Amino acid sequence: MRPKYAVFTIDVETLCDAECLMRYNLDSDVTALDGLDRYIDLMDKYNIKATLFVLSPVVPIIKDKLKRYIQNGHRIELHGSSHKSPMLLTDEEFRKEMIESKEMIERELGVTIKGYRAPLFSLDDKKLKILEELGFKYDASKLDYTHARNVGTITVEYFKQFLRGAYKSAQNNFYEFSAITSSFFGKIFPISGGGYLRLAPWQYMKPIIENYIKANDYYVFYLHPLDITEEKIPHFNKLKMYDRYYLTAGIKSYLQKVEQIIICLIQNHYNFVTFNDLTHIY
Ligand SMILES: [Zn+2]
Repeated sequence: MRPKYAVFTIDVETLCDAECLMRYNLDSDVTALDGLDRYIDLMDKYNIKATLFVLSPVVPIIKDKLKRYIQNGHRIELHGSSHKSPMLLTDEEFRKEMIESKEMIERELGVTIKGYRAPLFSLDDKKLKILEELGFKYDASKLDYTHARNVGTITVEYFKQFLRGAYKSAQNNFYEFSAITSSFFGKIFPISGGGYLRLAPWQYMKPIIENYIKANDYYVFYLHPLDITEEKIPHFNKLKMYDRYYLTAGIKSYLQKVEQIIICLIQNHYNFVTFNDLTHIY
């Protein structure tokens, strides 16, 4: 039997880094960072080592906590500093942000960062090349779902696929990991988590995810602390109704869905690894 791999990740950012709040420049005392602790508790319950893509301004807020999570085997990687879509940055701005935020996190937490995930899964081949030049080992920003805003395209033209959705460069020194989509009646569904799984009706998504897990050997999950927070999300008057719905719907039941996905993966004999582990296995 071929080995199967599941990677559990979280983008460590605050409530105000949500795209709809950034659009209106809205601020709040509520961080929703308790969602990170709830996620890690679930990971620890199943002995899963999570990959944390950290936004550098969050580090001073929860530095001790992050250090504890590192000691328990969870892995710190980079989510940048500004949380702007890299597609809205020039190549030079992007390069500068990557260098500075990587150095800051490595210095503050005493870790070596190997991987990056772009805000909004928004990256293209040119920016991918910059990551490689800066010494990153992998990127995890590919998402073949084009409905989101300001998203670039990663073609993986010079990569070979070693798991469905995971790619290795021709020189074998750089990896690209995509989030998972599945097609159902000709429609593409993102089934790797985030706001999509929180808002979508679970009775439809659950069988799609379970079928995917049974038929494949690679699964990636991600969410944001906001998606499972127990803090009270303020009522932002400026926001449109949909954005307010996006910020609050499905939060209470989400962690149970994540647990059901974990149980399905266990039943289907998946190994839980970090992306960094996969760069050593393949
Ligand atoms: Zn993000």
